[in-house]
Amino acid sequence: MPADVQFAVSRIASVNPATGEVLGEFDCAGLAEVRAAVTRARAAQPDWNAWGVLKRVKVLRRFQQLLLARKDDVAQRITREAGKPYVESLLTEVLVVLDAVRFLIDNAFAVLREEKLPHGNPAVTAKSGRILREPYGVIGIISPWNYPFSIPATEVLSGLVAGNTVVLKPSEFTLLIAITLQSLLQEAGVPDDVFHVLPGDGSTGAALVKSDIDKLVFTGSVGTGRRIAQVAAERLLPVVLELGGKDPMLVLDDADLDVASSAAVWGAFVNAGQACLSVERCYVYEKLYPRFVDLCAEKARKLRVGNGMDEATEIGPMISEQQVRLVEAHVEDARAHGARVLSGGIRLRDLGPTFYAPTVLAGVDHRMRVMREETFGPVLPIASFRDDAEAVRLANDSEYGLAASVWTRDRSRGEAIARQIQAGTVMVNDVLSCFSISEAPHGGMKSSGLGRTHGRWGLEEMVRVKHLDTDLLPRVKKPWWFGYGGEFAPQMGAFLEMIFARPLRQRMSAAVRSRGALWRRKL
Ligand code: NAD
Repeated sequence: MPADVQFAVSRIASVNPATGEVLGEFDCAGLAEVRAAVTRARAAQPDWNAWGVLKRVKVLRRFQQLLLARKDDVAQRITREAGKPYVESLLTEVLVVLDAVRFLIDNAFAVLREEKLPHGNPAVTAKSGRILREPYGVIGIISPWNYPFSIPATEVLSGLVAGNTVVLKPSEFTLLIAITLQSLLQEAGVPDDVFHVLPGDGSTGAALVKSDIDKLVFTGSVGTGRRIAQVAAERLLPVVLELGGKDPMLVLDDADLDVASSAAVWGAFVNAGQACLSVERCYVYEKLYPRFVDLCAEKARKLRVGNGMDEATEIGPMISEQQVRLVEAHVEDARAHGARVLSGGIRLRDLGPTFYAPTVLAGVDHRMRVMREETFGPVLPIASFRDDAEAVRLANDSEYGLAASVWTRDRSRGEAIARQIQAGTVMVNDVLSCFSISEAPHGGMKSSGLGRTHGRWGLEEMVRVKHLDTDLLPRVKKPWWFGYGGEFAPQMGAFLEMIFARPLRQRMSAAVRSRGALWRRKL
């Protein structure tokens, strides 16, 4: 373990962003604790792997039932520590995890089991190929605060079911929720040392990246992701990077304006806009633009902002002063470049220090930070376009490529445009909900990241693929081994011609004849 990671703080408080109440305090894991956790996880991994997938799936089933029984308690904890409305804690956190477990229970065995590898090279037909999927060993997971339960839980569960042990460094803002996840997993039967939680800030995360882990799954900002990728490159540590987004929403000329404007408002303001899949930029066909921005502003003004524990609350506080300042900077920059603020644009200090009013901006363009950088707050900037080609060009004019949405009554037109957009997921007539489809891969293009979580692709990130290649003729020397002179080169040329220059049926019979000729070669 290198000693060059600097630790600035030794204790971290968990704070309710709506009230300022201190919910708990934790000692940060330093170098020694990170090293100890990884060492213990490594020692525990062979036994855990030996349990087999089916026995581990039974633990997941118990975890699912425990979570279901405690859903209200878990959702309340999420709301207290992360600020989001209680109903969102149930919908976007507990439900997502319950369904991710359902997916793993139903599919882990099928995805992870050995499979035969049929192959078509006629020169090596006397071989039996198998694909094995082996756990990496110790998976490190570093997660953010915005979905503090569903993001780490889906990754941790995929890592565990595949036979890895896991060391999680949760966000410093949401440590209690990570501890809740740990308790539930322990109660469900995950043995000691198979899953560790390391409290701490970025320094603890940096120490984990430099530790002896076998793979890292990181979710967070592009800046941190880039720093991690540089460190990982030094020792070729495999990484999955789930990074930020600047997701565009395209409202085409035939879209239902009432539906699309409600989607834009929910997509931009859910979780106070602190979602990687938020609608961060909206583009509307120019003739619909005036009506659309009015509808959005009208709907935004009616949203109820407050403490997430209050049943009526639709928008909670932002997580931190730093996040609010970023939002203020983007809104001020947009104003300075000529944007119109149709609703919001201010802090709601009466409610608490980090409440920000849902903000609709019109007259925005790509010179503004709010259209280029991730805002990650309750801001909906809306621009117009002349035709579909311009809409696609604007959507792709971004360093990000996480998700996007297209709004139209014409499904095939929507799907044709979706194919042209550079993003990991493109939704037609919906926003954000792709994250709740446990079968679907989640991940980005361009600066939004590398690799995938969720679905079979997320599970496959947790295993190394090994090719087991057994030759079935152990007493036969291979015709391509040394002894290249004589007839071999012309025979090989004829063999290639026969195999690759003819239609399939002729190729098959030629392959059989030619294999005979090659095998008879004197070695
Ligand atoms: P962040 O990058 O500041 O922190 C994420 C995690 O990394 C935290 O646990 C933090 O302690 C840790 N960390 C910080 N510096 C580190 C370092 N040098 N080495 C190792 N770990 C370090 O991000 P955040 O503010 O917690 O989260 C918001 C960001 O996450 C947004 O950009 C959002 O778009 C992104 N995000 C992406 C997805 C996705 O699936 N693509 C999902 C949620 C959030």
